[in-house]
Amino acid sequence: MANSKLSYEQFTGDPFEDWKPADHTKGAEEVLRWAYDTYGDSMVYACSFGAEGIVLIDLISKVKQDADIVFLDTGVHFPETYDLIDKVKARYPQLNIHMKQPELTLDEQAEKHGSALWKKQPDMCCYIRKIKPLEDALSGAEAWISGLRREQSVSRSKTNFVNKDERFQSIKVCPLIYWTWDDVWDYIRVNDLDYNVLHDQGYPSIGCMPCTFAVGEGEDDRSGRWKGTSKTECGLHTAANQ
Ligand code: SF4
Repeated sequence: MANSKLSYEQFTGDPFEDWKPADHTKGAEEVLRWAYDTYGDSMVYACSFGAEGIVLIDLISKVKQDADIVFLDTGVHFPETYDLIDKVKARYPQLNIHMKQPELTLDEQAEKHGSALWKKQPDMCCYIRKIKPLEDALSGAEAWISGLRREQSVSRSKTNFVNKDERFQSIKVCPLIYWTWDDVWDYIRVNDLDYNVLHDQGYPSIGCMPCTFAVGEGEDDRSGRWKGTSKTECGLHTAANQ
């Protein structure tokens, strides 16, 4: 396996491309070890504290106990999400969990762009409250970790372990690409991890409160995000020109 520095400029392909992981983490733990060996403190995990996030935090804690973890604190998350973050901070006191806020407060955003921007211009709202803060958090970092899984959507089905990320001009490491939703929950139960209680109330994918709704039986896991609109992604995982 490649272990030399693989920068954004040097990237020519996933060094794990031909590797078929057979361990119980479907390659996640080994990819994380490689990534922290390669990028060290120049890597950030942008965690949304969803089910995949909880799994990744537990795996990361075995590999790098003082890893940097960023939560994009838009200011409109569910109270249950903040409760979970408090529990995670207590369980993993050595991890550096940063709450990254946007430059504009909600009041300043309303003053500048009108109230409830998420209803009128959700892409601009996501840019102000998520994308720009992540750009800032990644400035100076060579790589970031994401919990994307291939089965989540067609647009994520080609995600590799190690990716060239055009949006943030960075390397994006995705250790969970082969995990299924059942794998995620098996890991949470076996390891008795805390998770967002909204998952038990019909919310498989949890983002900001104004843009996240419960899904019905048989509906797609991400169908509750920006429900009733054509928007399906906040823009963190799409190319800058899309
Ligand atoms: Fe705004 Fe909704 Fe995007 Fe959150 S998910 S940043 S509230 S548009």
